[in-house]
Amino acid sequence: MGDSPAAQAPPVEFDLPVHGGFAPVGIGETEPSDIPDAEELEIAGEPGQDPAAAFRRTLGMFATGVTIVTTQAGDQVHGMTANAFMSVSLRPPLVVISVDRRAKMHALLHEGRRYGISVLADEQRGLSDRFAGRTAEGTEEVEFDLVHETPLVRGALAHLVARVVRSNWGGDHSLFVGQVEYARYGEGQPLLFQGGRYQHLLERAPLFSALPPEILDMITSGGIERTFEAGEFVVHEGDPGDELFVILEGEARVERKGSPLATFGPGEFFGEVAVIDGRPRSADVVAASPLRALAVSRELVRSTIEREPRAAWAMLEVLAGRLRDD
Ligand code: FAD
Repeated sequence: MGDSPAAQAPPVEFDLPVHGGFAPVGIGETEPSDIPDAEELEIAGEPGQDPAAAFRRTLGMFATGVTIVTTQAGDQVHGMTANAFMSVSLRPPLVVISVDRRAKMHALLHEGRRYGISVLADEQRGLSDRFAGRTAEGTEEVEFDLVHETPLVRGALAHLVARVVRSNWGGDHSLFVGQVEYARYGEGQPLLFQGGRYQHLLERAPLFSALPPEILDMITSGGIERTFEAGEFVVHEGDPGDELFVILEGEARVERKGSPLATFGPGEFFGEVAVIDGRPRSADVVAASPLRALAVSRELVRSTIEREPRAAWAMLEVLAGRLRDD
């Protein structure tokens, strides 16, 4: 697909003076010796703080996903946990990772070498600890798939294979810019890292499905059974969040702007959070096959909880459990 020069022109807001035909003047020209020493860093807040620790904590406020960077050296697969991963460009497709100069991974990467990125799913926290050297080797077998001669951690939420096209000085780290050769994404929730600890997205964490069965029965007993043809919308993004659904038969796919986010099957719930906060739906839900589901109205949920304090307490217990990082 050939783009005209006009189509390739940068958007107006990036239309800065261009130096050498590549980048705006000044970008990529700083020499390592131009960087001020760490002592010149001003730390706000309590006097007497250790500047390095305060700087680290400040950076830790930025929430990221967690990846395993992998590469193959001979027949050896080496992996390392990294959250310093970032997209750089769509055309050409570029990403960058920042690797500690003391890491074994650092000695293995150089221009022309490929690295794999496996974006970890929420339930893969054990792998993050493993590849950060926090847990002993051999506790759990790690499976890799080889793509473009590059190992990728099986079961991850997304995969990329990139070939190092630039390696740049980055203080005590180095930046490895990679041209992406392969990309794949799946469905699920990502593992998150913020404030020096793992975090979770609460958006899709179970709520009603985690209630004790007798409380769940009270809430769902007044539900109305509905059927949907394959491909039919169950809810549209922006619709009022006035019902939750329990799937009795078939599958439902959650989509945002046409991209699949998750698939739910029999016994699973969706619309759990919207029915409590009453806010509009944040995604479409489409029947992925002929679907039979129980619809429970917000009104029914509210009246059951008002009538039955045990139900309110059980929900608080589930919500409190979701806030724990265990
Ligand atoms: P090692 O320390 O030798 O190996 C790492 C671990 O992976 C070891 O336990 C090893 O046994 C295991 N391992 C390696 N290959 C395999 C394999 N084939 N099968 C099974 N196990 C294997 N550091 C950075 O430089 N940049 C970052 O962006 C970064 N982000 C991080 C984010 C998080 C959330 C965490 C917890 C750590 C992060 N680190 C980062 C630190 C980094 O993960 C560790 O310092 C790591 O130990 C460096 O790995 P290494 O290449 O030196 O190899």
